Amino acid sequence: MKNLFKNTEFVFGVTDYKKLPEDTGYEILLAGRSNAGKSSALNALTENKKLARISKTPGRTTEINFFKVNDDLMLLDLPGYGFAKSSKAKKKDWGPLLGEYFQKREALAAVIIFMDIRHPLKESDWEMVHLCSNFNVPCIPVLTKSDKLSNNNIAKAINFVKDKIPGSVPLAVSSKDINGFDKLSKQILKFVE
Ligand code: GDP
Repeated sequence: MKNLFKNTEFVFGVTDYKKLPEDTGYEILLAGRSNAGKSSALNALTENKKLARISKTPGRTTEINFFKVNDDLMLLDLPGYGFAKSSKAKKKDWGPLLGEYFQKREALAAVIIFMDIRHPLKESDWEMVHLCSNFNVPCIPVLTKSDKLSNNNIAKAINFVKDKIPGSVPLAVSSKDINGFDKLSKQILKFVE
C-alpha cells in the first residue's frame, strides 16, 4: 500500500493566529508531552527520519509547525508540553494561539494525542482531551513505544484509555519496530475525507 504521508514536508511555523494560512482543507494537530515519542512517530509515519527534528530546533518550540502532506492535508506539530519547570512557560507561549486556533479554525479535523504507553493520560494530556471535547474536535489517542510492553499489557493500556475517553479509538504504535502506522494512517484519513 502506498504511504500517503511519504512526501510530507515542513512548510512553516506560526506563532501568531493572524499569520496562519487560509483556513481551507484539513488539519490534524499533533500533541503530546515532551519525550512521548511524537517526533519518532511523525518520522515513522512519513518515512522521513529528519522531518520532526524541525519542531525541536530552538526558536521553533513556541510555534505551531506546519507539515504539508498534500494540497488538502496538513499535520500541525505542537512542541512537546509538560516538562517540569519549563512546561508552564512553554504553554503560555503558544497557549493563546492554541485557544484561538481551537475556537476559530474550520480546517481542524482531529487532534492526535501521543502518549507513552506506559504513562498514558498525565495532567497535560487531560488538558488537551478537555480542549478537544470543549470544542467538539475528535481526538485520537496514540500510545507510543508499544515495543516496551507485552501484547497483553498493550491491550490493557488501550482499554484503559478507551474507558477514560469514551468514544475514542486508541491505537498503539512502535516507532522502533515500525508497528501500528498503517492503522494510524487509516484513522487519520477517516477524519479528512
Ligand atoms: P518527543 O519529545 O515526543 O518528540 O519524543 P521523541 O520521539 O524524541 O522520543 C523520546 C525518546 O523515546 C527517545 O529517546 C526515543 O528514542 C524514544 N522512543 C521514541 N519512540 C520509541 C519507540 O517506539 N520505542 C522505543 N523503545 N523508544 C522510543
